[in-house]
Amino acid sequence: MADGATQPRKQTGARLDGDVLVIGAGTAGLPAAIFAARRGGRVIVADAADAPGGTLRRAAGHLSAGGTRLQQERGIDDSPEAHAADIARITGGTADPEMVALACELAPAIVAWLDGLGLDWDPACPAILHALETYAVPRTYWGRKRAVSIAEVLVPLFEAEVGAGRITFLPRTRLAALERQGRAVTGARLTGPEGEEIQVRAAQVVLTSGGYTASPEMFAEMTWGLPLYGGAEPTNTGAGLRAAMDIGAAIRPTAHFLPHVGGIEDPPGSRRVARADNPALMPARLPWEVYVDRTGARCLREDEPDRVTQQRAMTRVPEMTFWIVWDAAAARSAQSPLLPSWDGPRLEAAWNVHPSFSRADNLEALAEQAGIDAQGLRESIAAYNAALAEGRPDPLGREHRPLPLAEPPFFAVRNHGTTATASGGLKVDRDCRVLDTEGAPIPGLWAAGEILGRELLSGNAFVGGMSITPALAFGRRLGETGLVW
Ligand SMILES: Cc1cc2nc3c(=O)[nH]c(=O)nc-3n(C[C@H](O)[C@H](O)[C@H](O)COP(=O)(O)OP(=O)(O)OC[C@H]3O[C@@H](n4cnc5c(N)ncnc54)[C@H](O)[C@@H]3O)c2cc1C
Repeated sequence: MADGATQPRKQTGARLDGDVLVIGAGTAGLPAAIFAARRGGRVIVADAADAPGGTLRRAAGHLSAGGTRLQQERGIDDSPEAHAADIARITGGTADPEMVALACELAPAIVAWLDGLGLDWDPACPAILHALETYAVPRTYWGRKRAVSIAEVLVPLFEAEVGAGRITFLPRTRLAALERQGRAVTGARLTGPEGEEIQVRAAQVVLTSGGYTASPEMFAEMTWGLPLYGGAEPTNTGAGLRAAMDIGAAIRPTAHFLPHVGGIEDPPGSRRVARADNPALMPARLPWEVYVDRTGARCLREDEPDRVTQQRAMTRVPEMTFWIVWDAAAARSAQSPLLPSWDGPRLEAAWNVHPSFSRADNLEALAEQAGIDAQGLRESIAAYNAALAEGRPDPLGREHRPLPLAEPPFFAVRNHGTTATASGGLKVDRDCRVLDTEGAPIPGLWAAGEILGRELLSGNAFVGGMSITPALAFGRRLGETGLVW
């Protein structure tokens, strides 16, 4: 390259000094920065995205807390201790009990804070949420606009601090590496919007850069080589986690990865899966279809009532990829749609061009189009139909078998086990100080949010609200009292 004109230019960038550098202006980073600024700290916040908000832009927004005003108004008797005990029950004690207790203790104040800021709660809450493992009492809360309702009350507070000059916000600016003197973190090297280097000196660096579920490579490294399909914030590539690992931070590795079952990659080849486009599977809808893997073998009991059993089984399906297969009779007779968001014209277009959607007049042609082994598929459907016709139990124990699958045309839609949150993450102490591999805090380095990994507080289950609520709570606690200057 003669003059480097087409290369991103590496300029000699700015040097900034602050008391606190927050990496990531999302769920945990927003309260950390807001409260640190209110205490008079000179706060610098860098975010790889072009606006603050992080995963609040796309999450369902379920919070959980025990002992809130909203519960008291409905006569629901609850407390942080009962909340923590319920999490221990749901997770079989696989979450960190000390951090769970702390998160539950802090949670009611988070709900009260958002309440005081005028969050537009959905009138259905507090409720028991049946989409996840269920709490014993109604203690889940969400806004009418999902997590956007949270962003709508927090981002203006952040912008007010930016406007008042108490926060310097660097959008489209990524963490490149942490800087150290001896063991202590003293700042960071950032990469600005034009590829320029920005040096920040700060006695405290807070990593709130989220998980790694936008990076197939890091996800595979942290999750037993499994493939990533999901709909995470695109900037959440695990760079903060990597930077901390590079200076010797300790990792709590994945022990209990659980995928969500079912999701259609769209656009093709993107690894992106939009929740709104998911098929309606158990427990939302009883199946009329069968699920097969690439070999054509049925790979999941389609009407498995226990969600966690099915999620665990999903991790054993090759490439966490399966096809939902049905016939004309099922298409005609099923009482509710399998693909609610794929309406007539959209679905028709998908049959014609989308590689995840296959339709054919016989099983051989369907298998070839979809990339499934034809003999395996034929045998699986034959065995399913024969057991049904002869009144024998289904080979996988399935009970809801309304019709055989025999009437052309046949349909197949490729689906995946999908991931919304990172399972593993940084090891921290109770004060969210990042620990090194010897178990000692790394001076100057803190972390909160999904960078700590979902399993810290949810163990081997999905526990409602236990990602967003503690991200807000630990972030706020750092800003309010945790950091010193
Ligand atoms: C679809 C979906 C639904 C969910 N629903 C729920 C729910 O209902 N309840 C619940 O409790 N949890 C839910 N979760 C999980 C929860 O939303 C997240 O775990 C939580 O919001 C993460 O907060 P965070 O602050 O760690 O990260 P984020 O809010 O994602 O913020 C991280 C920020 O860091 C920035 N960043 C990343 N890398 C860098 C870098 N190198 N340099 C600078 N900035 C960087 C990002 O741009 C982002 O703005 C859901 C997740 C998804 C994806």
